[in-house]
Amino acid sequence: MIKYFSTEHKSKEVSFKDAIITGLAPDRGLYFPDIINKFDDKIFDILKFPELSFEISKLLIEDAIPENDLKKIIFDAFNFQIPIKNIKDNIYVMELFHGPTAAFKDFGARFMARVLSFFLSKSNQKITILVATSGDTGSAVAKGFYKVPNIDVVILYPSKKVSFLQEKQLTTLGENITALEVDGTFDDCQNMVKEAFIDKSLNEKFTLSSANSINIGRLYPQSFYYVWAYNFLKNQAGCKEIIFCTPSGNFGNLTGGLIAKRMGLPVKKFIAATNINDVVPEYLDTGIFKPRPSLATHSNAMDVGNPSNFARMTTLYKTKDDMKRDIVGYKITDKETVDTIKNVYEKTGYLLDPHGAVAYKAIEFYKNDNVENNIPMVFLETAHPAKFNEVIKDNLGIDVNIPKVLKEALKLEKKSIKIGNRYEDLKSFLENR
Ligand SMILES: *Cc1c(COP(=O)(O)O)cnc(C)c1O
Repeated sequence: MIKYFSTEHKSKEVSFKDAIITGLAPDRGLYFPDIINKFDDKIFDILKFPELSFEISKLLIEDAIPENDLKKIIFDAFNFQIPIKNIKDNIYVMELFHGPTAAFKDFGARFMARVLSFFLSKSNQKITILVATSGDTGSAVAKGFYKVPNIDVVILYPSKKVSFLQEKQLTTLGENITALEVDGTFDDCQNMVKEAFIDKSLNEKFTLSSANSINIGRLYPQSFYYVWAYNFLKNQAGCKEIIFCTPSGNFGNLTGGLIAKRMGLPVKKFIAATNINDVVPEYLDTGIFKPRPSLATHSNAMDVGNPSNFARMTTLYKTKDDMKRDIVGYKITDKETVDTIKNVYEKTGYLLDPHGAVAYKAIEFYKNDNVENNIPMVFLETAHPAKFNEVIKDNLGIDVNIPKVLKEALKLEKKSIKIGNRYEDLKSFLENR
């Protein structure tokens, strides 16, 4: 059986079920599997996403969930498209925003909600999910867990630091979803949540769980679509290798790719694209990991000053030089982001969102530094541009067509509870509600 150890190595190993339910290990480390099974070559011929995801998840989860239940979970969670389109030359976009909240976090949230609900239904437990969000996690989690029995969701988001549309998505559901509007930054929200998990007295009263990208249940499905992109392009273009570019904040999305590579996906390189919150690219340059407060940018879902999944990356790669063989980092400024949205739109007609634009620009930098004409380069477009229509309208002067799933949220009334940015503020809210 696969066991989950903490990246801090002080807590004891747990099962998949316990890793999902507790989220963060008691020693504040992140859970990681002690075994990563390898693909059988047959996996690369599967051209349907749910079937492919089912095969990959069997290798990751083994018998922690019976096959029939796992299949139901997967087919129900991934009922939307993942188009891969050629932009120009050997550059492709993989659109991960066709889920119900129009961002890639739907993959992790929808999978995790169903897995958790499966485990809870077996044991009649009730849990409270605490989640800190810089925008997209919150809406994906809110929507993914909406009305799921035995689960209460409390979302913390930084006041005035998410877009108008994101805020609507976070605050309008009601039922088992509560939105806390924190007078602070995303890092404050994340620290408050982390603090709650290690607070003994609070944990005696509630079973707390996390749906942040620290949860292994969120991470796993983020490995599926890397294989999907490779299979698609292998079938179309007969490639033997692939390069990915992932716009990154907490580095959960990229770590999903690293797991796929460990399973045997032939990835030549991962390009880690960040905005000016470039703690990881800086580490790849200098070997020094220096977390710091995050700075606000146009690609706000990546405004992360202390990327939590770095702990998993250093579990996979013991040294900086090890990591550099597989990953190259680039930092992109807001000006470069906006210029890229403009240039790509004018030259190709494709409209990027700010996160996708960060990835696209990083590919351009990488292509300048390396001659790589025959290997397909796929960047992950993590959100629909309409989620950032303020940035796009201000800079391009065009109105983005808002997809139907987002229009519905705009009509609803915001309901949030304002709190301060100290842990005590969160604690007293939880104890007194
Ligand atoms: C969360 C998010 C990211 C960053 O993903 P990480 O897994 O935190 O690196 C990028 N783009 C969008 C739109 C996001 O919501």
